[in-house]
Amino acid sequence: MTTMEATVETFCEDRIVSGKKLAAHIEAEIMREIARLTEMNEIPPKLVTVQVGEDPGSTMYVRMKHKACQRVGIASGQFNLPENITEEELIEVIRTLNRDATVHGILVQLPLPKHINEERIISTIEPMKDVDGFSPTNIYRLFYGSELLGAATPQGIVTILDHLCSRLQGKHAVVVNRSTIVGKPLILMLLNRDLTVTVCHSKTVDLPSFTRQADILITAIGRRKSKEDPYFITADMVKQGAIVIDVATPNGDCDLEGMKDKVAFITPVPGGVGPMTITMLLKNVLSAYAFERAATNVLTSDAIDLGTYAS
Ligand code: NAP
Repeated sequence: MTTMEATVETFCEDRIVSGKKLAAHIEAEIMREIARLTEMNEIPPKLVTVQVGEDPGSTMYVRMKHKACQRVGIASGQFNLPENITEEELIEVIRTLNRDATVHGILVQLPLPKHINEERIISTIEPMKDVDGFSPTNIYRLFYGSELLGAATPQGIVTILDHLCSRLQGKHAVVVNRSTIVGKPLILMLLNRDLTVTVCHSKTVDLPSFTRQADILITAIGRRKSKEDPYFITADMVKQGAIVIDVATPNGDCDLEGMKDKVAFITPVPGGVGPMTITMLLKNVLSAYAFERAATNVLTSDAIDLGTYAS
């Protein structure tokens, strides 16, 4: 699947990057691919989400994921499990989904209640159905340069960059975040593209001295600096002509109005990285489906253990 026809003019206006427009373009391609499968009488790709408890934020995210599946023709199912489910019971649910040949993607909505070990749960998901990209096998793949099932937010960020810039190689990216869901996978994806990468975090001394060096600045702090001074990243902290990707929600880390005449491109909040994240999940479901179909068409079930098939 190629998305390279989305030219900068189609999703940027006045240096502001519309993640929404780029996401819509990629979703249209996914839709075409699924329509093609339907014409061939193939079963559609299917995502199943697993939510434990009733946290309103998680419920909203899960609902958005199902709506996105509906938009493009991906089938979806949902497990809503009680807050007091045991770790063993949850593992059994995941093992059942791992064995279900009609399920191509499994997504456990995080965070999980404190009595459940998240790492153990994520490790239980069959790696080729792990559409969130956090299972040990998929992290290992990323280490070796494969982004087949990469984490959705970092994938959304690098997809924006791939479309903005025909030559990323050698550029200096500064990432202000080192979390497992954003910064760490993102660093590997940037290295895969031969960028020079600097990572900053809350213990970094003199943050502006680093951000000013960035050809590409990616920031995901997600807190207001102070009541009077809301933005961590202000115009004086960015280099003339830099690309700025603001991942933080709901308010953004960057003073967009203050810096938009200085930068080459900047992503707004909302409407920047957010819409791309969900679209990358859909893309991962399609990739997981394609892998499963290729494996079942080419290999007999005796010949392959998908759990250990790493590349
Ligand atoms: P997180 O785990 O709290 O990470 C925040 C990062 O910012 C940490 O690495 C932290 O450093 C760093 N930081 C905090 N204060 C700083 C400071 N004063 N100077 C420099 N760095 C500082 O949060 P997260 O889960 O990665 O999410 C980050 C933001 O991205 C949130 O706003 C979240 O809502 C947003 N997000 C958006 C999407 C999307 O799809 N749009 C997806 C995921 C996350 P330490 O490591 O030292 O604590």
